[in-house]
Amino acid sequence: MYSLKCTQCGEGFLSSYNLEAPICGKCLQKAKSLDSTIEHDKACENCGNPGVIYGKTLCHSCYFGFKKKE
Ligand SMILES: [Zn+2]
Ligand SMILES: [Zn+2]
Repeated sequence: MYSLKCTQCGEGFLSSYNLEAPICGKCLQKAKSLDSTIEHDKACENCGNPGVIYGKTLCHSCYFGFKKKE
């Protein structure tokens, strides 16, 4: 088992895989449920990243505030 730190919420968790971008179960579920509602042909109007939440104009990170504001 590997002791990892979630890149989304910063919580420590254990995984049997040494993940490159570790994400905890809670955030993974969130991400998974979001993945099905992504429009990949649109770009985020805030950061310009491709892939926005269906029916929205923002990407995951901007919409849910995954990125910390500076
Ligand atoms: Zn997490
Ligand atoms: Zn964005």
